[in-house]
Amino acid sequence: MSATDEPAAEPGARFAAPALPDGPAADRLRVAQVPVPDSLITALEIDLGTDAVRVDERSRAEAGRDWWPLTFAWALQGAVPTHAGVVVRPDDAAGVATVLRLASEARVPVTPAAGRSGVCGGAIPVAGGIALDLTGLDRILDVDDISLRLHVEAGVYGDTLEADLRTRGYTLGHWPQSIAISTVGGWLACRSAGQYSTRYGKIEDMVRALTVVHADGSVAHVGGAGPRTATGPDLTQLFVGSEGALGVITDAVLAVHPAPAYGRFAAYGLPTFAAGLDVIRRVLRRGATPAVVRLLDPLEAIRHDYPGAVLIVLDEGDPVVVDAMMTVVDDVASGAGAQRLGDEIVQSWLGHRNDVSALEAAVRAGWVVDTVELAGTWTVLPDLYHRVVRALEMLPGSIAASAHCSHAYIDGGCLYFTFAYESPANLDAKDRVWRAAFAAVMRAAMDTGSAISHHHGVGINRSAYLPEALGAGAYADLVAIKHALDPNGILNPGALGLPSPFLPDGWSWA
Ligand SMILES: Cc1cc2nc3c(=O)[nH]c(=O)nc-3n(C[C@H](O)[C@H](O)[C@H](O)COP(=O)(O)OP(=O)(O)OC[C@H]3O[C@@H](n4cnc5c(N)ncnc54)[C@H](O)[C@@H]3O)c2cc1C
Repeated sequence: MSATDEPAAEPGARFAAPALPDGPAADRLRVAQVPVPDSLITALEIDLGTDAVRVDERSRAEAGRDWWPLTFAWALQGAVPTHAGVVVRPDDAAGVATVLRLASEARVPVTPAAGRSGVCGGAIPVAGGIALDLTGLDRILDVDDISLRLHVEAGVYGDTLEADLRTRGYTLGHWPQSIAISTVGGWLACRSAGQYSTRYGKIEDMVRALTVVHADGSVAHVGGAGPRTATGPDLTQLFVGSEGALGVITDAVLAVHPAPAYGRFAAYGLPTFAAGLDVIRRVLRRGATPAVVRLLDPLEAIRHDYPGAVLIVLDEGDPVVVDAMMTVVDDVASGAGAQRLGDEIVQSWLGHRNDVSALEAAVRAGWVVDTVELAGTWTVLPDLYHRVVRALEMLPGSIAASAHCSHAYIDGGCLYFTFAYESPANLDAKDRVWRAAFAAVMRAAMDTGSAISHHHGVGINRSAYLPEALGAGAYADLVAIKHALDPNGILNPGALGLPSPFLPDGWSWA
């Protein structure tokens, strides 16, 4: 084996989870690993260059983890979910196609990965094989000023993209908290949502076209012909949310907007979370769609010194439109008896909204911490909130169970729950605490007819719940599509809970 054996360095190195201790890492998933033949590594080196191929222990261990919070505790004790067999970092779509063609011929699994900011274990190469690092596809190709379309490669990081667009006078309007550690392709693969989604939409609303490399290395260009089409089913959306299990996205066309020159914000206090949800529902019903509509429950509002729920609203864009939006918000909020609060609440949120450091501190304190984002209709959201918080609080060791409404639509919204538990240092004990908490949240979601994920995706840590969440018929359709597009099952084994020839029957982490 002659591939590069020095640890991988820049530029694929933004991943900001806790550093692994020195020395080899242990594998915690303990799934049998598919061997990567030397002949495949040699072929990858010949086609992509030795710098693009890594087999050293540290690179393979790093590629074996993502931002799934439970695994932070594992990392602090020297364990990763698994090791990749080899890490490959092509720098263009042709390189991606080569990797997939060679892997397909050798029947070796390939797990696409980019920022590895996913929190569901979706980028973990569960069965080993090739970790396909897509951050080398980092070119911003074109912006069409007339049609307001951006053409960008999949591995471009969010903050790099937004900064570039601003210099040209545009914004994508996609602001996930993880903007500095996540990529365009990761957003598309997970159906990401930014904090400003009520104006700009989720990533699935922005995408117009994709280039996708299939499992056998062949290429499809999907979408692109017009803003909306009636040319059969929407194949672009088939790959949006496919979590690397149906194909590898190499570039995308996204709708952009003129950079906003004007913005306004406001904060309101309400006696209860339910009262706040009702204000949001009425705002959307009046046709107003301000960029940020965020409601903190009383526990999350404590940091703002308010003894109730706090609603943050922000809009940006054309002054006439923004003023109209904020007039509707103020009208609905005052009609509901909301108290207008100081601007410092919104300024404080703006100052911290892309800070990703809190999680590591909580894990280092010994807690089991995670977040879960569920989507439901306005009819069920108040009940969903109470069910989840109650279920989380009833489990032993509960320190906190809170929520905010992070995204809103005409027919419902996303509730983003955070939980924290005291836990022994023992990793098996931590895993049990996490599993119980997640099971309680998933049960509440499915019992209320809500979606088990709004924007984090399924990965491997929710995969056991997907068949029930989708329903038998829809899940069978997904399995059939997987089989048609990836007959040898090489793409991202374990993702989306799909059956895999590389995993024991019915394997799931949960
Ligand atoms: C602190 C923190 C805050 C977060 N806040 C938000 C938020 O506000 N909104 C939000 O939506 N998410 C958020 N996330 C989750 C995460 O950032 C998103 O899921 C993001 O879309 C992942 O992008 P990535 O480039 O890191 O993908 P990765 O984690 O590398 O991969 C995620 C999944 O996508 C697949 N994949 C990646 N690239 C491709 C590709 N080019 N083609 C095919 N499959 C691919 C992988 O196989 C994997 O299944 C947050 C995460 C953290 C840690």
